Amino acid sequence: MKAKYTTSLVATIAISMIVASCAPQMKPEESCNFIQNSQKQRVSWKADLPVKMYIHKSVPEEYHDAIFNSMAQWNHGFHKPFFEIVDIDHSDSGPKKNGRNVIHWLHNWEDDRANEQGRTTVYWLGDKIIEADIRINAANFTFSVSEKPTSGAVDLEGLMVHELGHVIGLKHNEMGDSVMSATLAHGEERRELRHIDVESLACEY
Ligand SMILES: [Zn+2]
Repeated sequence: MKAKYTTSLVATIAISMIVASCAPQMKPEESCNFIQNSQKQRVSWKADLPVKMYIHKSVPEEYHDAIFNSMAQWNHGFHKPFFEIVDIDHSDSGPKKNGRNVIHWLHNWEDDRANEQGRTTVYWLGDKIIEADIRINAANFTFSVSEKPTSGAVDLEGLMVHELGHVIGLKHNEMGDSVMSATLAHGEERRELRHIDVESLACEY
């Protein structure tokens, strides 16, 4: 039985950087629930794993464990290590394309997008992702890090599992209770990869 969804989860902003025009025409591929480039190929990190991520200093320390746990869901839910935290990002700048994959905790959010719990921006070149940044909307939501999510709060581990799915190239998917479903209700616990998610990964990774 599904809880009533009152909020939408995430928008992915996908920015295709450059498709080299001198490259031979590239062959279209099945989506397998992945983002595709303009030539209908899946975009992903290919063999360039694990994705090295930074936690921005804006993320309060009490939330770090939930982030580590969300990475473990991906690292243990399939036969590849997808994520690794390399360091805290101490820079004063907000999210931007800077060659680092950074998780930001934001207290300012666009008024007309207040129902987003988080947002992941993915940058790619050809069919290869080169950077991804995550924004968590702390302006409009409170987050739970309890073993059982608090009602009225968003389970941070569940939200991060979803956002990390975007980082590795997955798009929204409403099949099989996927962790990539576009909505996550307050108090809902959805942390483990589902069969459909593993199937998507097997297609590309
Ligand atoms: Zn999303």
